[in-house]
Amino acid sequence: MKRRLQQNPRSFFGADMGSALALIRELNRGKVRNNIVQLIRDIHEVTQIGKRSGYPKGVKLPLQPNAKEPFKRIDAELSRLRLTPSLYFPTRNGWMRGWDLQRAYAGADHIPEDWQQLAVIVDLAALGLLAKVRACSRCKRWFFGKREDHQFCSTNCRVSHDRRSIAGKVKRAAYMRRYRNSLKRRDDENKRVVRANQGKRR
Ligand SMILES: [Zn+2]
Repeated sequence: MKRRLQQNPRSFFGADMGSALALIRELNRGKVRNNIVQLIRDIHEVTQIGKRSGYPKGVKLPLQPNAKEPFKRIDAELSRLRLTPSLYFPTRNGWMRGWDLQRAYAGADHIPEDWQQLAVIVDLAALGLLAKVRACSRCKRWFFGKREDHQFCSTNCRVSHDRRSIAGKVKRAAYMRRYRNSLKRRDDENKRVVRANQGKRR
């Protein structure tokens, strides 16, 4: 699983959870070029726009005017990727399908080194897994979020970010206020119960 992205140097059989984790490792090792990092961010941006303003029905349509720019960059970046579909052999559950590189780049003078990263990103986006490949808002490391709105790679990062942010301070003050009030209510209730019991005993 460790070297998954390099496993098949000439064919691509589709991405899965393991590819997402391998991509994250490469991102954290600085093995992913800036244009690919930008591609991931652009796809995230359009995902968020779709989520906020409703998904288009049917064919690909510009979701919103502000989705135009990221879409333009996404299309430009993906146009570097050329794959030829291959049907390798039949199985009980249908054919083993893959994508071949060689034929697609026949006659081309240059094969992009990062073609597998591009292919993995396309697949992960289609599977709904790319949205969970996220950069931590605090330490900037990439991680696989359990949910796609997770901003932090760890409790540590979330806590230290909360402490630093003013919103966090306000939230903590409100929490402390509620906490003190609840202590006071509990205290009052205890006193009331004690008084009631004393009353019974008399
Ligand atoms: Zn972090």
